[in-house]
Amino acid sequence: MANRQVSAAATHTQQDTASAPHGFSEVLLSPGDCSGCGACMELAPDIVGWREGDERPFLISDMAPDGVLTELMAFCPEGCFEDGNAP
Ligand code: SF4
Repeated sequence: MANRQVSAAATHTQQDTASAPHGFSEVLLSPGDCSGCGACMELAPDIVGWREGDERPFLISDMAPDGVLTELMAFCPEGCFEDGNAP
């Protein structure tokens, strides 16, 4: 009985950590303070898109290689990007 409980807990933990593949992070975009500079779309056009007529970007993918997310967080002047896997 106790082994089953441990096994179920271990499975649950594996599912939690499997949400982002190794080397990738969940991208969170909160464009509330977005100035519309367009830097994010130029930096990561596979991750960030822009619909014609919109004033703010949208996420094409909510997963990005760690390095790309780090650059988005560094280059967005309004701090609109966050790492969803950060503690
Ligand atoms: S880099 Fe930041 S401020 Fe500029 S368009 Fe993208 S989300 Fe908006």
